[in-house]
Amino acid sequence: MFYVKYKGEELQIRKDTVYNKCPRCGKEVKVDLDDLAAGMERGASLLKSGVYCDVCGELAKAELAEGRPMTEEEMP
Ligand SMILES: [Zn+2]
Repeated sequence: MFYVKYKGEELQIRKDTVYNKCPRCGKEVKVDLDDLAAGMERGASLLKSGVYCDVCGELAKAELAEGRPMTEEEMP
């Protein structure tokens, strides 16, 4: 069992207890640990990574495709 230890308290890490803040907008996003583990296998760093919310994830994909920054209003 993995857990986070904070001020002596053990907070159990389970499939449904891991969240992060979207690195783009700050919205709370539930993290799929299986997806996260797959990312780590591909060389991603846990401390340098973040999980985008749905909107920012779509924006990031569109920006990759367009090769430039985009706004939500420009999304197809
Ligand atoms: Zn976001």
